[in-house]
Amino acid sequence: MSLETIIHFSYMVGAVLFIIGLKMLSSPKSARLGNGISSIGMLLAIIATLLDKQVVSYHWIIVGLVLGTVIGIFAARLVAMTAMPEMVGLLNGFGGLASFLVGWGYHHHTVITKCETMDLFTTVSVYLTILVGGITFSGSMIAWAKLREIMTGKPILFRGQNIVNGLFLIAALGAGVLYCYAPANSYAVLYGIMGISLVLGITSVIPIGGADMPVVISLLNSYSGIAAAMAGFVLQNTMLIVAGSLVGASGIILTAIMCKAMNRSLGNVLFSGFGAVTTQVATAARGEVKPISAKDAYCLLDAASSVAIVPGYGLAVAQAQRTLRELGDLLEKRNCEVRYAIHPVAGRMPGHMNVLLAEADVPYEQLVEMDDINPSMSSVDVCIVVGANDVVNPAAREDEKSPLYGMPIIDADKAKTVIVLKRSMAAGFAGVENPLFFKPNTRMLFGNAKNTLQELVSELKDEK
Ligand code: NDP
Repeated sequence: MSLETIIHFSYMVGAVLFIIGLKMLSSPKSARLGNGISSIGMLLAIIATLLDKQVVSYHWIIVGLVLGTVIGIFAARLVAMTAMPEMVGLLNGFGGLASFLVGWGYHHHTVITKCETMDLFTTVSVYLTILVGGITFSGSMIAWAKLREIMTGKPILFRGQNIVNGLFLIAALGAGVLYCYAPANSYAVLYGIMGISLVLGITSVIPIGGADMPVVISLLNSYSGIAAAMAGFVLQNTMLIVAGSLVGASGIILTAIMCKAMNRSLGNVLFSGFGAVTTQVATAARGEVKPISAKDAYCLLDAASSVAIVPGYGLAVAQAQRTLRELGDLLEKRNCEVRYAIHPVAGRMPGHMNVLLAEADVPYEQLVEMDDINPSMSSVDVCIVVGANDVVNPAAREDEKSPLYGMPIIDADKAKTVIVLKRSMAAGFAGVENPLFFKPNTRMLFGNAKNTLQELVSELKDEK
């Protein structure tokens, strides 16, 4: 069997392992194994690629491999769970940058070093690799800076913004046509495309902010896959085409799921400037805030036969998932029905709450999706909201002037009693006031969630 055949077979097996791994990621039970299987597929792909006789320099590959591994290990070990979306943003950006550099490098190697012209198919592939890679890189850097709060998380809007973006897009397409059809592939045009792609990435992400950021992150994730697939066409590497397409497709599916979860269209997310509406002011929440002590909260829980727990970003900040599980277990032992209500965009990354609760070994059967728990919320005796805010904001249902209006929420306010665990009256990620905190059936248990949950656990244990 020739080396080439072995390489092709390895790519085929790698692609199958990727698909199996992806499929297994759809359930928390099989996700860890799925991740492992995909990693084996990736290892196989890397080894097969390194065997390829067209590899130009093993020295630089080894330098990159060692550097990347060291940085990757440190970054993965040091990053806080709550900073994962920023990390994902960075990784998307570097994926885009890698494709961008592949396109540039290929042009340089063919046109300058080898003094050859590229055929039309390769030229189009180089163009798309650079365009999509550039947009992904600069767009992801902006998304990272917004999530990291290095720059404002609010949308940055100016008059005629969509027209300006449209003009940049037309310029990028025009330069593409010029690049592909000019007699020799022009470096000057290529630099123009590189510049426009980087600017387009910035201008298309700055108008997005607030609660729309998760959609942008998953869209950029999809772009990074598309750029990689295009780089695969440039290098004629089957594995890169398959892996890039899988990332591109899964990213776009996730984007569609997130948009659905927020009841928004993708166009609305990209062009509406969430939360920057200044002409209308959301109705101010009115009513009395009723703080409660852990002791009194215990009395409510003691009498409850059905409890719904809504975890949110604050649970991740407090790292109180294990204490929460202890509370859930204690309640269950008292024959109280306990369910964890999961909102698709709770936390700061897709599946954040599932991962957090899985870490604390919360039985998966107790996790209930928003659509499944909402119809029975009015029969829940106590709904405990732990560090969640936007995802339980009834203004999304009731207040047409609220920027959150239309986003499906967990109907915590419909429970007989609601206990909200948070540190203050501060707003959530979207920066919108929450009328839930002022409702007559709501009690506020102020404090760091880890401490307040611990107090509740102690009360329940003392009573036993
Ligand atoms: P929110 O950001 O709306 O609210 C979190 C709340 O947690 C805050 O109001 C905060 O109040 C409280 N909190 C923070 N730290 C603690 C602590 N140590 N103890 C107790 N409470 C704490 O979170 P949600 O999960 O409700 O909503 C997620 C939001 O993030 C949505 O707007 C979503 O669109 C957005 N988003 C989601 C992403 C995703 O992929 N899931 C990615 C990026 C953004 P206080 O300060 O008073 O304690």
